[in-house]
Amino acid sequence: MPITQILGLSRLAKPLTSEEGRRILERDQYRCQYCGLDGLANFENSLVMTVDFVQPRAKKGKKIAENLVTACRPCNTIKGYRKFSSLEDARAYVLARREELKKAWQTRASSARTRTAAT
Ligand SMILES: [Zn+2]
Repeated sequence: MPITQILGLSRLAKPLTSEEGRRILERDQYRCQYCGLDGLANFENSLVMTVDFVQPRAKKGKKIAENLVTACRPCNTIKGYRKFSSLEDARAYVLARREELKKAWQTRASSARTRTAAT
């Protein structure tokens, strides 16, 4: 089975053909261009790889290679439909937001662990 078929591209990058999607993934070596997650490292990673419009389609982003990057689903979701002046700006935003989310998660997870350990 071609890797693009197990990457959920047909659903997640609707306007892209699987061939167009595959070209972007290969160009980026299957690595999330925001957090660096390696889509070839293991099956779980491959499942979350998508192709992202740097300038969202909803904001008139074009379907051209320069505007498309490999992104894991969490980064893609975090980025949402915001508009950025460049991939670098988008990456800075996504990484900062991930860091905030991670801190919040650490707090929640540690109190959840404490609670489950007590029962
Ligand atoms: Zn990512």
